[in-house]
Amino acid sequence: MRNALLKARLNDESTNMLEQSRQALAESERRFRDVVETTADWIWETDLMLRFTWISGRFPVSTGYSALDWLTRPLTEFLRTNSTSVDQWKSDSQPGDHLSLKHCRYISAQGEVRYCNLVIKRVALADGRPGFRGTATDVTSEVEAQARVRYLSHHDELTGLANRIRMKEFLEACLNPSLASDYTLAMLTLDLDKFKPVNDLFGHASGDDVLNDVAARLRECMPENGLIARHGGDEFILIVPFIRSEAEVEQLCQLIFTAIRQPFYVQGNEIIIGASIGIALAPKDACTSSDLLRFSDIALYQAKNTGRNCWVFYRPEMGEQILQRREMENEMRDAIQNGQFHLTYQPRYDVKSNTIYAVEALVRWHHPHRGVLMPDQFIPLAEETGLIVALSDWVLLTACTDVRRELGNLSVSVNISAVEFEIGGFAARILSILAKTGLPPSCLELEITESAALKSTGPMLEIMHQLRALGVRFLIDDFGTGYSSLNYLNTFPFDGIKLDKTFIQPIERSENARQVVEHMIGLGKAWYLEVTAEGVEEEAQMTLLKAFSCDALQGYYFGRPVSLETLKEALKTFQCKVG
Ligand code: C2E
Ligand code: CA
Ligand code: CA
Repeated sequence: MRNALLKARLNDESTNMLEQSRQALAESERRFRDVVETTADWIWETDLMLRFTWISGRFPVSTGYSALDWLTRPLTEFLRTNSTSVDQWKSDSQPGDHLSLKHCRYISAQGEVRYCNLVIKRVALADGRPGFRGTATDVTSEVEAQARVRYLSHHDELTGLANRIRMKEFLEACLNPSLASDYTLAMLTLDLDKFKPVNDLFGHASGDDVLNDVAARLRECMPENGLIARHGGDEFILIVPFIRSEAEVEQLCQLIFTAIRQPFYVQGNEIIIGASIGIALAPKDACTSSDLLRFSDIALYQAKNTGRNCWVFYRPEMGEQILQRREMENEMRDAIQNGQFHLTYQPRYDVKSNTIYAVEALVRWHHPHRGVLMPDQFIPLAEETGLIVALSDWVLLTACTDVRRELGNLSVSVNISAVEFEIGGFAARILSILAKTGLPPSCLELEITESAALKSTGPMLEIMHQLRALGVRFLIDDFGTGYSSLNYLNTFPFDGIKLDKTFIQPIERSENARQVVEHMIGLGKAWYLEVTAEGVEEEAQMTLLKAFSCDALQGYYFGRPVSLETLKEALKTFQCKVG
């Protein structure tokens, strides 16, 4: 009886315990189910061959597939990447081993590329057989965000081309020293010509459109293994590995030129732009990315100076020339401060009144080591570097002061560079100089070369109207040497033209030259312009020009450009010469 009672109690206890553990199991199962259902991850089990045997309910939400689509198919088929490493691990793994895989790529049922992080554990499955169990966490948006950040930090936002960082990386990989000994790489630095006016005239949005078009055209020209980067502004860098010869690079340049020269359409207007290209080769010129960049930039600089729309290969001498220019640029900066610039004045003779009525101010640089430098030797550099504004201010101030103080009733003409109109604030500069010096505006003439008049359309017209209203006069310099289109005579209110000396010099000898000059003088008069002939060196030239009714004459015959003091002396005796 006692035994039976004991057994019954034990039985009760074990039933109780069984019930308790059954409850605990149910609880844990419920908990597991809750976790499985509420977590964003999907959970799965496979057999030893990694074939899915069970997939949690979250799977369709994440992947778009139903679990049935994949049951019995292997995990490695599901993954588009990392499958070999999973296969490898599967064969080597021991019970209890883990494997974590990040950013596993798969294709969703909708055909989209998606990413998940996987954790795989080798386990004993419910029926006791060994297998694998794991979780998959969807990380698609994280991977995409990372890719976007990486893309943005390596690409130019506007054109989608590589940026400097990506270019450097690419270049460094290409320049790996383990490459074959006959390996050649070309770096092309390309700069658009005449792009700035597009921005100025049509606005930045249109400028951006043009840059995008340029990028697209460059992509078309580029071999597949190359890289195109935007290097800021309107400068692009093209890296072409595996070049066989310089001729091959030239072919590419030709292709690019043809592509870029096709018209662009901006707000219904046909726009033509060009390009200049500088080329450096590795390993011939340099083997590091920074040297290649520097050298192709030097070659580009050379290309732009040799008239644009061309390509130039780097040569070591170029570096030297550019250093010299830099040196000169620095010296010029100091020269203005240190009083190394001087003005000479050349008289202009008025035929009707038979007097000297004006002088042209011509600048000289008394360089401490190089002697007296003529304008042709430094004005182009001053224009390129923007130093022209400071220099021109000095010339204007000195000329206006000299004439106001020493040359009473004469006018003074000053040469103005085209770039000065583009820099802005030109009218204000002239006004301030007139105010400072007290020179009557009608005594100031500004000489602008024909090509400059054509180049700068927008701001120039307004500046001319503003200053002419005060009495300042405008002359076209070197008339006849620029463009044959005379449209600008219609557009711009010029007061006079100066015929270039190359037309005047042959008139004694050549009938043809005489006819040309006579015709040009007639043309000027037809537009009510005062006509000056430059470069008059001989009496016979003077006689002919007077016969053609030229209004004014200038040249060595009447006087060379000389200092203010010498000019004052010469003016005293001038009447004796022509009178
Ligand atoms: P330009 O304005 O055509 O000046 C006339 C040039 O012809 C001067 O050369 C002058 O010395 C030279 N010349 C004058 N008469 C004769 C002649 O009978 N025969 C010959 N063979 N030559 C004659 P320069 O002084 O060397 O000036 C050269 C150019 O430099 C000027 O050409 C002008 O465009 C530019 N320039 C001079 N001064 C300035 C300046 O202050 N600012 C700017 N922006 N340019 C200047
Ligand atoms: Ca001149
Ligand atoms: Ca001239």
